[in-house]
This record gives sequence, structure tokens and C-alpha cells, in this order.
Amino acid sequence: MTASIVELHGVGKSFRSADGHSRPVLEQVDFHLREGEIVALLGQSGSGKSTMLRIMAGLVPADRGQVRYRGQPMSGPARGISMVFQSFALFPWLTVRQNVELGLEARGVPRAEREAKAEAAIALIGLSGFEGALPRELSGGMRQRVGIARALVTEPEVLLMDEAFSALDVLTGERLREDILDLWDSGQMPTQAMLVVSHNIEEAVMMADRVLIFASDPGRIRCQLSVQLPRPRDPDSADVRALIDEVY
Ligand code: ADP
Ligand code: MG
Repeated sequence: MTASIVELHGVGKSFRSADGHSRPVLEQVDFHLREGEIVALLGQSGSGKSTMLRIMAGLVPADRGQVRYRGQPMSGPARGISMVFQSFALFPWLTVRQNVELGLEARGVPRAEREAKAEAAIALIGLSGFEGALPRELSGGMRQRVGIARALVTEPEVLLMDEAFSALDVLTGERLREDILDLWDSGQMPTQAMLVVSHNIEEAVMMADRVLIFASDPGRIRCQLSVQLPRPRDPDSADVRALIDEVY
């Protein structure tokens, strides 16, 4: 059995709603993210997907259950985990290079090393030549590439992508997804596992080795489908259609 990087055991989380009542968002979530896999997490809006990602990254604590990173209880943000956000979350007044360097600055990496690593991450994701550009000078697809470079520059073991393609038009999203998969398949990704949140079943099936479906209210993993398909995948293939039919 391949080693788990992150494990969630019976994780629960509640938020106080406007009427002052505590409402469970996640209940009894059990999940292991293992080395070498891409997992897709599908679920309706509001089902708790982003909350689960934040808990996995150590950005918010679980109220119930346990989160382990490499076997150790999670305490605070995990250094080996990076996130990519739907909204890109770039600083508009900083250049591409400065945005990418941010994660390294927080870790006290010396300037020369920061620059070299940022440049490598920018080149990896296909943005060489745009290091000095501001986000507003870039297309949506290029902005998300900056978000990905910023996530990868710290060489995280785990990359969490929270609807990273949803704000992009279909072709731009597909192109970026293909580029990420090419990097993954050719061993150029520094990461050892990826969790891709999506509300698009086809996207999930095309990217993942394993698909999880979140039932809403409260969010808990409803079923797990193991997809073992060689890439490149054909969305119209019988295997993929059968899988989609199984879900709906
Ligand atoms: P998803 O990413 O699947 O759309 P979220 O995890 O963002 O779902 O949110 C799940 C539910 O938890 C939503 O009802 C949302 O309003 C609520 N929620 C998320 N974060 C907070 C917060 N910090 N405070 C209060 N409620 C929250
Ligand atoms: Mg979300």
C-alpha cells in the first residue's frame, strides 16, 4: 500500500450561522491522500469542499476528528502543502515574479535563491518572459499560471486546487489542465499528490485517478470511484461514459 501523505479521520467542522446556531458543514469525513495520486473532489456549491481543503492545508482547525500529515497531527499551516484558488488571489500591485516569490519570502529564503526558484517555477508553467508583468496585463489563463507557479515554487508535496479552472473559459481551462497533466506525467511536477476540487464531472474524470463525491448538508464523502485510466483520456470513451453514468 502506498504511503498516505495527508489523512483525515472522522473530521467534522461547524460554523455559526447568522441566527447564532452552530451548523455542521463537514461530518465524519475520512480520507487519505496517497503518494503518486491525483484525486478529484466533486460536490455542489456549499457542500464543504473548500472547508475540507483549508483543513487539509492546516489553515483552519477541524472541530472534530483528526488530521495527520506524514503521520503527525496537524498543527498550523503545513509547509508541504500549497493551494491554488479559483480567484487566483494575486496581489495586483506586484509583478509576476514578486507574486511567485511571496511564499519563499515568508520562509526566509535568501533573495538570490528566491529569484532563481521563482524563475524556474515561472518557466515550468510556461510564463517565461512575463516575470516583470503585472497581473492586469495578463489574460485569465496566464494569471492562474502565476497562481500555480506561486504554489509550486516552494516545491510542495501536495498541491490542492480549489476550482482552479472554473473562472477560465472552457478552452483556456482545458489547455491549462492538459499542461499540468503533461508536467505530472513527465515527472516535472515537484508535487507527489494532487487534490483537484471541481464541480465538473468530466474535468474530474479527465484528471483524476480517483473521484470522491461530496454529499451536501452536512458535507461528507458519499462515494469513491476509482478510475484507473491511462492518459491521454478520451472523454467519449466507453470507460469514461460508464463512470459518468454511474455517478448520475
Ligand atoms: P464549497 O467549497 O463546497 O462551496 P464551502 O466549504 O466554501 O463549500 O462552504 C460550506 C458551507 O460553510 C457554506 O454554507 C458556507 O457558507 C459555510 N462557511 C464556509 N466558511 C465559513 C466561515 N468562515 N464562517 C461561516 N460559514 C462558513
Ligand atoms: Mg469552494
